Amino acid sequence: MSSNEANTAENFIHHKITHDINQGLNDCNVITRFPPEPNGYLHIGHAKSICLNFGTAIKFNGHCNLRFDDTNPEKENIEFMNAIAEDVKWLGYSWHEVNYASDYFEQLYNYGVQLIQKGYAYVDSLSAEEIRQLRGTLTEPGTESPDRNRTIEDNITLFEKMKNGAFADGSYVLRAKIDMNAPNINMRDPTLYRIRRAHHPRTANNWCLYPMYDFTHCISDGIENITHSLCTLEFEDHRPLYDWVLTQLQFPHHPQQIEFARLSLEYTIVSKRKLHLLVEQGHVSGWDDPRMPTLAGLRRAGFTPKSIRDFCDRIGVTKKDSWIEMGVLEHSIREDLNASATRKMAVLKPLRVVLENYPEDTCEQLTANNHPQNDQLGSRTLPFDQVILIEQDDFAEIPPAKFKRLTLNGEVRLRNSYIIKCHGIIKNEQGDILELRCTYDPDTLGKKPEGRKVKGVIHWVSEKHSLPAEIRLYDRLFNVPHPESEEDFICALNPNSLEVINGAKVEMSLANSRANEQYQFERIGYFCVDSKDSKPEQLIFNRTVTLRDTWK
Ligand code: ATP
Ligand code: MG
Repeated sequence: MSSNEANTAENFIHHKITHDINQGLNDCNVITRFPPEPNGYLHIGHAKSICLNFGTAIKFNGHCNLRFDDTNPEKENIEFMNAIAEDVKWLGYSWHEVNYASDYFEQLYNYGVQLIQKGYAYVDSLSAEEIRQLRGTLTEPGTESPDRNRTIEDNITLFEKMKNGAFADGSYVLRAKIDMNAPNINMRDPTLYRIRRAHHPRTANNWCLYPMYDFTHCISDGIENITHSLCTLEFEDHRPLYDWVLTQLQFPHHPQQIEFARLSLEYTIVSKRKLHLLVEQGHVSGWDDPRMPTLAGLRRAGFTPKSIRDFCDRIGVTKKDSWIEMGVLEHSIREDLNASATRKMAVLKPLRVVLENYPEDTCEQLTANNHPQNDQLGSRTLPFDQVILIEQDDFAEIPPAKFKRLTLNGEVRLRNSYIIKCHGIIKNEQGDILELRCTYDPDTLGKKPEGRKVKGVIHWVSEKHSLPAEIRLYDRLFNVPHPESEEDFICALNPNSLEVINGAKVEMSLANSRANEQYQFERIGYFCVDSKDSKPEQLIFNRTVTLRDTWK
């Protein structure tokens, strides 16, 4: 089981389980599962389900399985399976067993035969389209298929032939025999099996008959002795079918399906199918593009497992669908990184500052704390010399009201260093500022200046003793809060979701930084070293989040 603490927030599912335990149900065991379909990478919505399933198991000293729901071979592959397993581990959870629905294909087939033998399933030659047409509507009952009353013997023979590849794709299906008049459309003789000649990532071409989700899921849960099968609200209407299958098969163990609301996060999408489109059409650089709401993307952007678990804890688990603001996710990562990230200085858009009274060819080593509160993070040295770089924005020739940074004839404190004063501006013919001429006050290192107030503090790096870097600033992926409700969600993409800054300079101590390492660039935000593209000779940093909430 995982070393991580269970989610602390109590929710209605926990209350229900506590009640079950008090009644002595399931011998007081709690066994859950996380059942992804390996047709894409996991996203932040899945994180909610992972934290709930694994967290609940931890909370009640039970266990949780990872189960791949791999019954749609065309869309699924091993890359996705590996990525999913990696993401679950990264979030900090370990499974009791890893299972695959495809491991149960033989058993599932036998359960199909059992249903036929009991008179609860039949082979139908109607096409998928005909079945849809005869299904009826919410106000009209469905129509029984002409094949509904086939004999059990004929059904068994046909089902076996389906399995053995005697029929073309789509020519026959196996259907449950329930009730074409059922008010719940899911109970109107749902399809349990279809013929599909597709290569399966695990069972290769052994099968041409694949079970449907509703048949597979409940039986897989039953086989694994799952006690509480937690799923999202859209399966509520499928619960009668879940229970029907297990009841007809007289399963010795009948798991309880409990539904909860999906996570929807503003300004992004949580649908693997749609995320797939973004990747396929090249709107993002891949599943792990830092703008993607995938766990791989969030990781590359610098989100920590802890921040994501905290987020899931914070949003809670209810039965009511709602949209969560991006600010909630960002708050979680800010809180984590504020406590843990080493402070560094980086200048994104440099402006040259020459300190006229500083001796040429001298370089002094200043000391700076790596964290304002956490002494355990130690300190570092900052080379300081005659030419330094500050942020272009930190100087204003004509300062707006309340401007506390550097102005002509004004003073400012260089963070972890001296106070400087600006005496002159050097411009090119077009009037662009090329350089500032300043002096420094040697008596102000770690000291307040005598007889005057200097309010502003700005960051800086030495021009000579700093490293070039590329900085990638990410913004929301979509321009609208609910892109999934747009007719064409692609049109709602934010064209400015990535701003690449070349020519930034970062402090020398970042030379040895490793992939994914996280920092606070003072006064700018939290950044991490890009895990794919950053090289020691060309550092690349991703902005994880700004210092303050800029969404409001
Ligand atoms: P998608 O539409 O993104 O493919 P899905 O529900 O089809 O989502 P699965 O791989 O079947 O994806 O999901 C695995 C588990 O994660 C399921 O139990 C599902 O209910 C849950 N899950 C998926 N999306 C969310 C979400 N947005 N919020 C909470 N749980 C989710
Ligand atoms: Mg699905």
